[in-house]
Amino acid sequence: MINVNQNGASVQTGTSGVIGQMATYDHEQILFCQDQATGLKAIVAIHNTTLGPSLGGTRMWQYATEAEALTDVLRLSRGMTYKSSLAGLNLGGGKAVIIGDSRTQKNEALFRRFGKFINSLGGKYITAEDVGIGTRDMEWVRMETKHVAGLPEYLGGSGDPSPVTAYGVYMGMKAAANQRWGNDSLVGKKVAVQGVGNVGQYLIEHLVKEGAHVTITDIFQDRVQALVAKHGVTAVAPEAIYDVDMDIYAPCALGATVNDDTLNRLKCSIIAGAANNQLANEQVHGQAVMDRGILYAPDYLVNAGGIINCYWEVIGYNRDAAMRQAQDIYNTTLTIFKKSIDESMPTYLAANRMAESRIEAMAKVKSTF
Ligand code: NAD
Repeated sequence: MINVNQNGASVQTGTSGVIGQMATYDHEQILFCQDQATGLKAIVAIHNTTLGPSLGGTRMWQYATEAEALTDVLRLSRGMTYKSSLAGLNLGGGKAVIIGDSRTQKNEALFRRFGKFINSLGGKYITAEDVGIGTRDMEWVRMETKHVAGLPEYLGGSGDPSPVTAYGVYMGMKAAANQRWGNDSLVGKKVAVQGVGNVGQYLIEHLVKEGAHVTITDIFQDRVQALVAKHGVTAVAPEAIYDVDMDIYAPCALGATVNDDTLNRLKCSIIAGAANNQLANEQVHGQAVMDRGILYAPDYLVNAGGIINCYWEVIGYNRDAAMRQAQDIYNTTLTIFKKSIDESMPTYLAANRMAESRIEAMAKVKSTF
């Protein structure tokens, strides 16, 4: 099979063998890490470093097979390339997975050994926290390599990225409101927020402050009740969130909540939230939301505040600059909507094309020296 990579070149693709899988989306490099003494089994995937060093978190998960771990790390690292490109960052896409049980198999030796492997890449890959990884684990990784971002403040890092992420989501939501209703005011708009964890709780603050009518849900009732008491928002049971009377659906919990089932229930005008991979199937449901007249603000565009915060940590932390760049998500979202209309394509595709075209353009800059 022949495909076209993000630099516009023809690439041979196929799924037979590891190099065949790498060729499918033109990954640059994979590092397989194995260490019997510590029990470490990890894979680091570097998708594309045209824009800069690859950055993306490490996930610890009990994959059923090594093939499943490889597929996940290839998919996630590619996603990071797109996210950083669209956010205008000088970062490439990378990701790591550690195969194992994050509840029982964590220890200092394992993470320090992993840190040595990261260090061997010489800065071509910068890691951070992801699912199954905590601050303590990253402290151990940091003992062996400086190529770590998203660290707590006491370790010289930028701390919790969630407020920056929430601000970016809020900006993307306001841009969507502008596109849909002719101005970006959310006063009186009904917003349903699914998941009130790190990002969701900060997003609610912005929404309530502006005067939106907010309905929330979460599987942790204590979290919900605390926010109801603090902000006077309405709460519903987790399964009921898709059926509430809403203008905007803001998924801030899990991925794949925009699917065949929920699309028959969601009576919203806009989807804009923090969760990654909101569309269960990008092609199918990206087109379906458009056909139903729902304006979808692409997830990896509006939730880029986290990676923006990491980027500023890498180049020298400046909170104001990170917030300003998160604010710019507003303009980028409007640009994506315009491209979607002008070229009659779903918004997710317009975002992908814009991310690819920046990489293509910057590849030319690099080729001059
Ligand atoms: P979190 O774990 O702090 O919060 C998620 C919340 O969703 C939790 O309170 C959880 O109980 C709730 N939840 C889980 N399943 C649910 C369900 N079925 N119904 C209702 N609530 C449910 O995570 P977070 O850091 O706030 O991130 C939220 C989403 O945004 C995730 O998908 C994450 O990948 C994405 N994201 C986060 C950041 C960041 O800076 N934290 C950056 C980019 C993307």
